[in-house]
Amino acid sequence: MKKNVLITGAAGFLGSHLCDKFISENFHVIGMDNFITGDISNIEHLKNNPNFQFIEHDVTEFVKIEGNLDYILHFASPASPIDYLKIPIQTLKVGSLGTHNLLGLAKAKKARILIASTSEVYGDPLVHPQTEDYYGNVNTIGPRGVYDEAKRFQESITMAYHRFHGLETRIVRIFNTYGPRMRLNDGRVIPAFMGQALRGEDLTIFGDGLQTRSFCYVDDQVEGIYRLLFSDYSYPVNIGNPHEISIKDFANEIIKLTKTNQKIIYKELPVDDPLQRQPDISLAKKILNWSPIIGRQEGMQKTFDYFKKLPKDKLYKSEHKDFSKHIKK
Ligand code: NAD
Ligand code: UDP
Repeated sequence: MKKNVLITGAAGFLGSHLCDKFISENFHVIGMDNFITGDISNIEHLKNNPNFQFIEHDVTEFVKIEGNLDYILHFASPASPIDYLKIPIQTLKVGSLGTHNLLGLAKAKKARILIASTSEVYGDPLVHPQTEDYYGNVNTIGPRGVYDEAKRFQESITMAYHRFHGLETRIVRIFNTYGPRMRLNDGRVIPAFMGQALRGEDLTIFGDGLQTRSFCYVDDQVEGIYRLLFSDYSYPVNIGNPHEISIKDFANEIIKLTKTNQKIIYKELPVDDPLQRQPDISLAKKILNWSPIIGRQEGMQKTFDYFKKLPKDKLYKSEHKDFSKHIKK
């Protein structure tokens, strides 16, 4: 009998790659999504796969699954700043009510649950690189607070279920991850720059471009998450690529890679945009024997090759789509 795994956010970027990974490892996957930021085309290739089942559902409503469930991976949540600024209440709800529903489901089914947390729990960090024991520097009432605090609550309620109910829980703190199936218009810096290069627009740097990020290729991220799920470690673990770069240097790398003739233009820095971000992955190395193997050059090339092949309508689709039909039942 195959083990059953529920993956929420299955039609999203990371969720869809996780569906592929678990199917390739011989699991039966139940994907769940309400398409608020996801895209059905990310799981189209699984439509006729007997080891994949899809349920369209908003996880902030009671989640009902028939039969046995062995594992739950909770990846449903808007993840890009422009998404969670546009749908702040849904972002808070999926991290809080949605997580509560999935923890309840895990308890009822005696399933192990892994929760997708984020480097954003560290906010604009005063400790660099960020280690798991750093408590963070988050502006609770700023515009990004809806995401950061939902994720911090998510970690707290997960640990409460672990301590109080003895639930088997895992928490991954994901640092900026990229690759094929990101939404070209989701506003995150990689699709933003690559989309601009493909449309023949100037590359927009927010602020002076001296802020840093560290980008992890999706295959490395998925492998880290997989190893964490099957480890016996219940506390948060950073998974990301420590290779740090400033956004300005990164824009220049993208110009070289895409061979665009466009220039860089500067726009206002969004409120509370973290100045620096780099994961300390010593813990993941030690307990999961994991570290990333795909460098930025290789990963960016794969990602650009994917974006280049997208149909024209995806390239020019407006920044925000109509979410209304997915919010109300
Ligand atoms: P994404 O937007 O591509 O995917 C999220 C998916 O969740 C979408 O398909 C969306 O429709 C779905 N969803 C949102 N709310 C839902 C709800 N109420 N019910 C059902 N489905 C819902 O984003 P992603 O980059 O794949 O992120 C996935 C997870 O990983 C998120 O929890 C995010 O916070 C976390 N994460 C991602 C990154 C990254 O760099 N990609 C970094 C840190 C954390
Ligand atoms: N950024 C930018 N230009 C863009 C999009 C993003 O300069 O068109 C910057 C953004 O201000 C941030 C960094 O790139 O400093 C990474 O942004 P992203 O939205 O990818 O994710 P974050 O790490 O901030 O969650």
